[in-house]
Amino acid sequence: PVSVEPQGVRGASSTASIKRSSVVREVERLKEQRERRRAWQAEQRREQSVLMSKDPGNPNWEVALMVRNYRGQLHMNPLRCLSSRGARTQQITVCVRKRPMSRRELQSKAVDIISVPSRSSLIVHELRNKVDLTKFLEHHKFRFDYTFDEQCSNALVYEHTARPLIRTMFEGGNATCFAYGQTGSGKTHTMGGEFCGKVQDCTTGIYALAAQDVFAELEKPKYREMGASVTCSYFEIYGSKVFDLLLPEKPMLRVLEDGRQQVVIVGLTRMPVQKVEDVLAIIEQGNRERTSGQTSVNIKSSRSHAVFQMGLVLPDDTEPCGKCSFVDLAGNERGADTQSANLQTRREGAEINKSLLALKECIRALSRHSSHLPFRGSKLTQVLRDSFIGGEQNKTCMIAMISPGLSSVENTLNTLRYADRVKELVAKDDDLV
Ligand code: ADP
Ligand code: MG
Repeated sequence: PVSVEPQGVRGASSTASIKRSSVVREVERLKEQRERRRAWQAEQRREQSVLMSKDPGNPNWEVALMVRNYRGQLHMNPLRCLSSRGARTQQITVCVRKRPMSRRELQSKAVDIISVPSRSSLIVHELRNKVDLTKFLEHHKFRFDYTFDEQCSNALVYEHTARPLIRTMFEGGNATCFAYGQTGSGKTHTMGGEFCGKVQDCTTGIYALAAQDVFAELEKPKYREMGASVTCSYFEIYGSKVFDLLLPEKPMLRVLEDGRQQVVIVGLTRMPVQKVEDVLAIIEQGNRERTSGQTSVNIKSSRSHAVFQMGLVLPDDTEPCGKCSFVDLAGNERGADTQSANLQTRREGAEINKSLLALKECIRALSRHSSHLPFRGSKLTQVLRDSFIGGEQNKTCMIAMISPGLSSVENTLNTLRYADRVKELVAKDDDLV
């Protein structure tokens, strides 16, 4: 509380009194400002609630309001910390990344039904109808190793997912990182880099961020003295066929298995690389091959798995002694395949489904250190066989991508349930230890 002096007293020319009066004015100015701000906020809230309760242009106002009300009660503390140091690198890490709403979704007033309250939890608000047809929300809660909301950058996602795996390759193991999810959920954005229109900035993707760390590690005296070097491969699996993305017109390659169950992709390019720029050039070259002849980036590339690999090679060795694989998986959406009359599309869908199921089984086998590895279930798991054997020294990370919109809820729940099953197994195994 500030006492305001009567005018007469202030008339005296003492400097103390002038000072005091300027303090009084300042206090009053601040008070006025505060009141104006409060009034403005109250008005905003009122306007918003009117808008939300009867927004004539928004067919989804009811859901939007329900989600808002629910979120209002949540304590939000999402992941923002860029450092993953100190975190224990688990053998299998399962994370979820929610992409932001696209401009088109915002324009059509699509509703964001995903909440990410903390660094490891996520809620899907599903719209349901009661028997009397009144609408209500069902809140599906999930827990993963990490959950990334729409504000998380590729760099932050990388830090907690693929980065801890880089060491694995230098320790002679196989590290594998999968991007899983429906088409349009952000797999290629995360792995390959951010899009600016149709142009992709490769420097911002997990491939490039990993390459940076690989070369930083390679610089260390230990590896210099060993004369270690790095090679890159980039290939695509479409149906049960493998195509080399680093050769012109991406030739098809044969996959053979020798007597010791070693799987070889015959003639696969292993490009020696000396620096990050070499890797970027390779990624760009591969991406061009991957999407060439397509009218839209997402038509055929979303029906194939892309595998980018870096290998650590010692002098005199022909095979890499450790590997990092990054897999941009084919879209996991169903629906489109079952309704489509196109036989080719249906076959593709069935093949993709088969490979994703086999993948889950193989990660399950890895987490259980099982001697039975069902890698022959698909071409994908066959060529990645090395990733799933060898026990503790191999590490895997799955990033499940989800779209935020109400219209994707079915695919989103499918994606989360798949990821959850992979994690569930891990948790169970951890409990047993
Ligand atoms: P997918 O490979 O899963 O089919 P894309 O990576 O092609 O999906 O992403 C679909 C669209 O969404 C692209 O235009 C992409 O730029 C955008 N997008 C995806 N994830 C993000 C993100 N985290 N931040 C901003 N835009 C994103
Ligand atoms: Mg893609």
